Amino acid sequence: MNRNDYDVVIIGGGPVGCITGEYIKNGRVLIVEEHQSIGVPLQCAGLISKNGVKELGNPKGVVNKVRGAYIYSKNSMVKIGNEGIRAYIFERKVMDKDIAIRAAKKCDFLLKAYGKIEKDKNGYKVEITHLGEKITLNPKIIVGADGAKTITGKKLGLVNNKNREILSSCQFEMVNAEVDDDFVYIFLDRKYSERFFTWIIPMGKDRVRVGLIDRGNCYNKLIRFINENKIAKEILKNATITEFSTGSLPIGYLDKTFKDNVLLVGDAACHVKPLSGGGLYFGAMGGKIAGEVISKYLNEDIENLELYDKRWKETFGSEIKNGLRVRKLFLKLGNDTLDKIIEKLSKSDLIDYINKHGDMDRQASLSIKVLKSLDIGLGFRILRDLL
Ligand SMILES: Cc1cc2nc3c(=O)[nH]c(=O)nc-3n(C[C@H](O)[C@H](O)[C@H](O)COP(=O)(O)OP(=O)(O)OC[C@H]3O[C@@H](n4cnc5c(N)ncnc54)[C@H](O)[C@@H]3O)c2cc1C
Repeated sequence: MNRNDYDVVIIGGGPVGCITGEYIKNGRVLIVEEHQSIGVPLQCAGLISKNGVKELGNPKGVVNKVRGAYIYSKNSMVKIGNEGIRAYIFERKVMDKDIAIRAAKKCDFLLKAYGKIEKDKNGYKVEITHLGEKITLNPKIIVGADGAKTITGKKLGLVNNKNREILSSCQFEMVNAEVDDDFVYIFLDRKYSERFFTWIIPMGKDRVRVGLIDRGNCYNKLIRFINENKIAKEILKNATITEFSTGSLPIGYLDKTFKDNVLLVGDAACHVKPLSGGGLYFGAMGGKIAGEVISKYLNEDIENLELYDKRWKETFGSEIKNGLRVRKLFLKLGNDTLDKIIEKLSKSDLIDYINKHGDMDRQASLSIKVLKSLDIGLGFRILRDLL
């Protein structure tokens, strides 16, 4: 292998890096992954909508199907969902590996290889450290698919603390849970998570993922949730932890996701739903767009990567922006207002509307409609100011 034959180097072998590689139709592609296998360590609850699964190319790894959600505030609960399947629960290790196998039909992989960009007078290149060896590559295009903490994005100056917030997570997989396998459980209670939420996701056969996202101290907050929340105590009274993971989630909007011959995809580009933290749906869409734009560039149909920014913004940019607006409102609401919203919602006709038309991939648009209709004093006034 002449390593300098590569037209494209993708830094990061997660699902979005692999989908990007899969969609590059011409040229030689190398995917560089710092871990020794794809899909580990786990940093995901594995909940993906029907459309999301399609967008990801129907990968293997489904362990359960769900019809909706129980959404709890401190003292209220609303049940969303009906008979139809709304989402799938995935074993991410299996899913990521399956997507990587697809990408491997087109791309080479270098595992246990840490990649970083460097700039010299000829532009950006990639420096790889692989088993103690240093390798320098000069591809035509470099893709930063290096996840939430993206060194690539930071080095390019595209990602900073102003245009995105990094949240932390802690998640346990537990067995012997007594849970309704058909519904996910979401807890909006500031006592446990001040800036996001807590979840119990059924994986089928009495297995669950119990997790929490917040700004920090997530392990202790999750233990507190398991020990003190009434519903969690009931579901998990005989349960045992069999897996433990921590992770990072980027929430924000990048005005620019390319510079010179480098572009960012997936979590590195903040292609994440600000209200739920789901990153696979927009990530897959963005990865496909990146692959198509890179193909055009290699074909010399376009002179730069500007088309990438234009196309992802047209496809899902406004949903991320609206999600950030609703999140701004969400952060201002205390437990009392959240209780009021959930209680009003549980008694309202809107539930029928949500069950018929609600799209978990377009949560921002749906939340705006719901909050406007509920007309809850404080929440409504803040929303009116924001929109
Ligand atoms: C707790 C939690 C729960 C979540 N739950 C869901 C969910 O239920 N549904 C959903 O849709 N999304 C969920 N997400 C988000 C989802 O996991 C991400 O959006 C998705 O994994 C993004 O894919 P990616 O390929 O962009 O990044 P990643 O999956 O993070 O992959 C990046 C890859 O790059 C590699 N890498 C990083 N730096 C380098 C380097 N310098 N050199 C080489 N390799 C490198 C990493 O090892 C990794 O393999 C969740 C996130 C968290 C934290």
